[in-house]
Order: sequence, then structure tokens, then C-alpha cells
Amino acid sequence: MCIFCQIIAGEAEASFVHQDKLCVAFMNLRPINPGEFMVIPRAHIDHFTDLSDDLAAHIMLVAQRLGRHMQATLSPRRVGYVVHGFGVPHAHLNVVPLMHSNDIISGKHVQVHDTGFEVTLAGLAAPNRAELDAMAARLRLP
Ligand SMILES: [Zn+2]
Repeated sequence: MCIFCQIIAGEAEASFVHQDKLCVAFMNLRPINPGEFMVIPRAHIDHFTDLSDDLAAHIMLVAQRLGRHMQATLSPRRVGYVVHGFGVPHAHLNVVPLMHSNDIISGKHVQVHDTGFEVTLAGLAAPNRAELDAMAARLRLP
């Protein structure tokens, strides 16, 4: 049983923010900033994209309501929602109080210099309009 399923079963400790019939939310053990938590389905489903539409919508709705409360309570600059799928193989939506634009970042954004590092978009590929249009066409629902 994965650690998230153990938490849901009451066999592992967690600090719950929310619990209902379909999902639970609890605090991250290693938050980007204090206050980060995650919303997960009660069902053990690895990939977020494998959640049913209704379950994914429910999780997003819970995250949105809790995210509004986070904004009012903690006053971060932004509330970020992240699904990356790494770590525990049980779908989880991270809700992150963002104090800085670097708080959610890809290594691709980081350029290392002699004096330190810089977070920038400069190192990322910049597809042209035709490439963007072609990619958009590929991503449209049939
Ligand atoms: Zn699980």
C-alpha cells in the first residue's frame, strides 16, 4: 500500500486540511513555503490524467476553495496549483503559497553563472508561430 493510501487508511500520520468522500487534503512534509498542502483522491490512482473527469473536477474544486482560503489566510503573492506526478505514485495536486516567481520552477529556467544562478526564460526554446500553431492543432480535442 502506498504511503498516501496508508494515510487515508489511518495507518500513517498526516495533518489534514480537508476530508470528504472522494478526496483528502493534507500538509506536505517538505513544503516549498509554509502552508503547502496536497489534495489527493481516496482511490489509489497513479496518474492524475487517469482520474475520471468528475473526480478531477472535484479535486480541483476542493483545491480552489482551499486555495482561496489560503490566499486570505496566508496572503502569499500567488497560490499555485501543481500536478507533477513525481514522488508518490498516487495522484496529488499540490497547492502552494508562492512568495516568489522562483517558488515553482523547472531546472530549465536556471542558468548558472560564475557568481551564482539566474532564473530566466532566456534558456528555453522559443518556437515560432507556425510551430505553436502546429502544436496547438495536435493538442486540440478531436
Ligand atoms: Zn495510494
